[in-house]
Amino acid sequence: MNYQQILQDIYEEIKPHADEGKQADYIPALAQVNPNQFGIFLQLLSGETYTLGAYDQKFSIQSISKVFSLAIALSILGKSLWERIGKEPSGSAFNSLVQLEYEHGKPRNPFINAGAIVVADVLLSNLDDPEQFFLNFVRQLSGNEHIDYSPDVASSEQSCSYLNASIAYLLKHHGNLHNRVEDVLHLYCMMCSVEMSCQDLAHAFAAFARSNEPFSYGGVTLSVSRVKRINAIMQTCGFYDEAGEFSFLVGLPGKSGVGGGIVAIYPSRYSIAVWSPRLNAHGNSIMGMKALELFTTITSESIF
Ligand code: GLU
Repeated sequence: MNYQQILQDIYEEIKPHADEGKQADYIPALAQVNPNQFGIFLQLLSGETYTLGAYDQKFSIQSISKVFSLAIALSILGKSLWERIGKEPSGSAFNSLVQLEYEHGKPRNPFINAGAIVVADVLLSNLDDPEQFFLNFVRQLSGNEHIDYSPDVASSEQSCSYLNASIAYLLKHHGNLHNRVEDVLHLYCMMCSVEMSCQDLAHAFAAFARSNEPFSYGGVTLSVSRVKRINAIMQTCGFYDEAGEFSFLVGLPGKSGVGGGIVAIYPSRYSIAVWSPRLNAHGNSIMGMKALELFTTITSESIF
């Protein structure tokens, strides 16, 4: 298959949509990003790679970090993690408070903000230096020692994270947050602020795509069965209240972030990362969704 030509054709086809949507601006630092950027990196597990556009430009990974933090928490707590967090799609916005109140402080899944805030709490309770541990894990996973936090993006988010603070206090009220709200939010915002390129993300997620091989990176060891479960949660919960649509259009497990990144995997075959900052109403990259839909359609390579 001529993947390079396919990526080029996809770009030509989606270009007319390049002005649709806008970048996230509820985090002031993200409003400064040039929205007119697009990059894609395809990593076949057999070793070949194919790229297009700004594939090596770093951007804010935001909620894509939730996959990394979940992997760490699962390696620490094992299945008892599911006593504090569910694993069902939420059907609500990523920062919704309503469902959390109805369900007495047990978040629906680890990829909505409430769930990821509980995951951050688990990391704080169990690791001596969670920030360093997280960074080291992500660096090992992607094979790039230069990956780092953006303290500016993190403090920009924390300075106005009123909804996430409300979520954290509600969790605290229900006894599902063991550390101080400020400390948990600080770690959560730091993890969201990590900057990676499409290349870094495709490399990192190749480890999840190799789902029938042992997973051991930076002190995080997961069984084949646990990697399978993380991939399953990506499939059902990776795109907020658009998880069904992504599954329908693209047919791959994946995760998006409001920085405009999307990463998806085809177990045992490839990982692919796309970035374009303009988002739709659900917080997912418009060009990214279209590119991946076309990619799995043209190649006939999706899990369905
Ligand atoms: N840091 C962002 C927030 O909590 C992450 C949202 C996202 O990427 O979906 O609002």
